[in-house]
Amino acid sequence: MKKRAKSEALYQESSQYFPGGVNSPVRAFKSVDGNPLFIAKGDQDKVWDADGNEYVDFCASWGPLILGHNNKTIREAVVHTAQNGLTFGAPTVQENQLAKLILDHNRFIDKIRFVSSGTEAVMSAIRLARGFTGRDKFIKFEGCYHGHADHLLVKAGSGLITFGASSSAGVPESFANETIVLPLNNKEALSKAFDAFKDQISCIIIEPIPANNGLLIQEKAYLEFVIEIAHKNGALVIFDEVISGFRVGFEGAAGLFNIKPDIITYGKIIGGGIPAGAYGASNKIMSHIAPEGKVYQAGTLSGNPIAMAAGVAQLSTLVKDGFYQEMREKTEAFTSIIQKHLQKKGHAAKVFNVGSIFWISFSNMEKVQTAEDINSEKMHLFKTLHGYLLSKGIYFGPSGYEVGFVSAAHTEESLNAAAKIICDGMDEVFRT
Ligand code: PLP
Repeated sequence: MKKRAKSEALYQESSQYFPGGVNSPVRAFKSVDGNPLFIAKGDQDKVWDADGNEYVDFCASWGPLILGHNNKTIREAVVHTAQNGLTFGAPTVQENQLAKLILDHNRFIDKIRFVSSGTEAVMSAIRLARGFTGRDKFIKFEGCYHGHADHLLVKAGSGLITFGASSSAGVPESFANETIVLPLNNKEALSKAFDAFKDQISCIIIEPIPANNGLLIQEKAYLEFVIEIAHKNGALVIFDEVISGFRVGFEGAAGLFNIKPDIITYGKIIGGGIPAGAYGASNKIMSHIAPEGKVYQAGTLSGNPIAMAAGVAQLSTLVKDGFYQEMREKTEAFTSIIQKHLQKKGHAAKVFNVGSIFWISFSNMEKVQTAEDINSEKMHLFKTLHGYLLSKGIYFGPSGYEVGFVSAAHTEESLNAAAKIICDGMDEVFRT
């Protein structure tokens, strides 16, 4: 067991300041043992906690750090830009630079609007879809997460297509009534919803690669059906690419599947580790946004120059030839070591991966594609794994529903060493 006295003391102190001692609930160690580690610094593929313990990091601040920690190009861009002031509330050249970089390399959107978080991007995209279609209801899926806006904190009701029920206190039922929650990978549910709410549905929002509740990899044919049925019924499709955007390819999942949604939302990687998000669509749809159109959306720090400069520095690296192929290959090599071990030992678990995202499922199911496919009773196995990995210097997000991220800073050597520890950890899990 590593010494964690300083993290422990900091956590006792933070518990006096913040609910649960944290500023975002996913940081709490509610479903694993112990209390959160306080991270003092990060460099390349590693982080160090307040007690000086070193960990190979697979959380990557929940996704933004595709180049790893303390990347020199990003750091220098941030410092350089900060020397001229931090924010102006007026247009800056950095916004143009990031927009041009994205739009020049993305076949699916013509215009973009920068915001400050993924939640804000999604919330604004839904408003745009509603404003564009003049309809109020929308469809989301069980097993996808889209941030914490009221109408998105809604879970499925009891039937196949009932109104949603709020999944957080403080969300009015009247808001939940506008949200239809369906199971993923179920064409019939979608057809029934469009029959039941004819001409009332503004859009379908989906994570094209759902990565917030395990990694629920969808078939291309299903995503095509989502687009087809929406368009047949006069509704739009929003791909929420806050995780998959710039992660599975520069054009995200839209590019990977070669499918064009109507609106795409981004976050995480786009800001290079500084708060930023964005949504984009065709010229026609984006013309509905204020000040051009009647859908209001604004932000004091939107397009903040420091975030834009960090985004430009990060995305300029991602756009280089071969970047994503290398990320895919190194992730595949890493996960296949673990997968082969699980098979050899007959452990009831499987590793899924797409691009540089991976997730360990604690079941033998060949495909895990809906929230229902995940057996919550097996999550105690992740708890054992998490504790083991922390004790051996590997940092995973503190929940078995969370995916892991490989970064460009992970070396073959560190990935091989980490894979070996994860294999040992899985032996430990299935021994107990
Ligand atoms: N959409 C998706 C797919 C996400 O994964 C997240 C966050 O994890 C969000 C939206 C919300 O983004 P943020 O936490 O930046 O508000």
